[in-house]
Amino acid sequence: MWPQTPSDDQGLHQASLRTALFRHLDKLLSASPGETLRSEAINTFRFHGQLIRPIVQTGIRKPKSMDAALTIRTTFTPIGKEPPYQDSTDGPGLILYKYRGLDPLHPDNQALRTAMEKRVPLAYFVGIASGRYLPVYPVYVVGEDSHKHEFLVEIAADGEITNWESRTLDQSRRYSEAVVKVRLHQPVFRARVMDAYSSTCAMCHLRHPELLDAAHILPDTHLRGQPVVPNGIALCKLHHAAFDRNFIGVRPDYSIVVRQSLIDETDGPTLLHGIQEMQDKRLVLPKAKAARPDPERLEERFQEFCEASGA
Ligand SMILES: [Zn+2]
Repeated sequence: MWPQTPSDDQGLHQASLRTALFRHLDKLLSASPGETLRSEAINTFRFHGQLIRPIVQTGIRKPKSMDAALTIRTTFTPIGKEPPYQDSTDGPGLILYKYRGLDPLHPDNQALRTAMEKRVPLAYFVGIASGRYLPVYPVYVVGEDSHKHEFLVEIAADGEITNWESRTLDQSRRYSEAVVKVRLHQPVFRARVMDAYSSTCAMCHLRHPELLDAAHILPDTHLRGQPVVPNGIALCKLHHAAFDRNFIGVRPDYSIVVRQSLIDETDGPTLLHGIQEMQDKRLVLPKAKAARPDPERLEERFQEFCEASGA
């Protein structure tokens, strides 16, 4: 059942408020799976008829009726700019969440510490664009580094709050490595790429997010294969697969090249319009220069295309 043992009405009230918040987010996400949410939509949350805004001006949110924090938030930072608070991950494992200010006894920091002591689940909102967030929940505060002025936050594996158990920090780190990749890094990468390309395939202009992927230029196993927007391109499922398999390549000047054997082939309309007609077209690029595909990464990837396609 619950990771905490609510000992009184107050505890039960807080536990059901947290569950109600997660159900509210579930409901919003079911309308747009895998997508980001507007803060106005998130802030329509009501509990027992009372409006409780999960997102406020500050990063750590503790409603008045609670003693432990309910949500944490990382603000959106435009690509290429340094974020004011550098929340990051502890290597591949835990999320490092900065104190509010430097005073460990600030009420917001105290509220997060209480969440840690009580082992209660929180929602984490990652800023993707102005007023838009990727919700990650439940998360747990599992440690604190007072010298670095930060808390250590663990993401639950499957979105469930029932399987959580007490672990050592090292166990948490090992456990979290795969989870952080799947539940934080990949969705954040996708959301940021979709935002940069206005949810449009950079090759065929298809505009249905459900049919779009954030393709890596260099794979995540590569030294420069980080999940960052300049290493990504928004592509529809067909063009993503064609790019991954080197049927289609992209030159560092953003022009598209189709493998010669496919140009020579005769088949139906998908080959003609979906693949062959891409030849010599240019990628549709994000407006923000810093969000465009990195030409150096494209160059390296294009070499691979040339070798694979015999070009
Ligand atoms: Zn496409």
